[in-house]
Amino acid sequence: MAALDDPRPGPTPAVRVLGVPIHDVTYDEALEWMAAWVVQGGAHQLATVNPEFVMAARRDAAFRAVLEQADLCLPDGVGITLAARYMGRPLRERVAGVDLVERLAARAAQTGWRLFFLGAAPGVAERAAEVLCARNPGLVVCGTFAGSPATEEEAHIVRRVQAARADVVLVAYGAPAQDVWIARNLACTGAAVGIGVGGVFDYVSGAVPRAPAWARRLGLEWLVRLVRQPWRWRRQLALPHFVLLVLLRKS
Ligand code: UDP
Repeated sequence: MAALDDPRPGPTPAVRVLGVPIHDVTYDEALEWMAAWVVQGGAHQLATVNPEFVMAARRDAAFRAVLEQADLCLPDGVGITLAARYMGRPLRERVAGVDLVERLAARAAQTGWRLFFLGAAPGVAERAAEVLCARNPGLVVCGTFAGSPATEEEAHIVRRVQAARADVVLVAYGAPAQDVWIARNLACTGAAVGIGVGGVFDYVSGAVPRAPAWARRLGLEWLVRLVRQPWRWRRQLALPHFVLLVLLRKS
């Protein structure tokens, strides 16, 4: 969604995983891009891509188009980094949304970027903001609002974000709703950066515990999630299908 008259080109995707572009950026580089975009203005979108995104994008042309025009498609899921490696295009780092948000909060506390937390169940974004502000003195979370991704709500949510003078909007409506919301509305909010963050506020606030360190190291967060949130099994059926398609190298 970079404007045509951008003074510098945006990052180029390094690989396509079953047709979805993925950028090979580290946490630090993702933050540097955000810093450039906050200075530059305009509206820039980041997506935190995992195999469920890729499978959804195969079925949903509108979601595919949103990911196609995003400025950064981060390799959030371990399935994405494994697929890239299998395709002979290894990525340098997995960039998990929750860790990126922790780093973003630290950077924003230093630079003064104003963050707006949109989405999650009522009270969860507020709690996540309290946790991050306690850890990062000086951090400005200029607004939180659960709202909803329904189109009827867009206009008043946009007005809230605008009134809060946010630089970066973090949107937690789950994919694809959050990413579609950003693509449709970010430019009107006046914020320079929008990131779809999925369950990040749930984790940061402690509403949902993160997978233990050993599971994260082994890339088994999806398994821990399936055990803890078994009602997600239907969504997670996308995972074996994803693996099969990658092994067959179908794109
Ligand atoms: N969510 C929301 N409104 C909705 C749907 C979802 O606020 O209409 C929130 C939900 O409370 C959660 C977040 O979206 O905090 C992400 O949900 P999920 O865990 O499904 O996302 P994922 O991390 O799998 O992308």
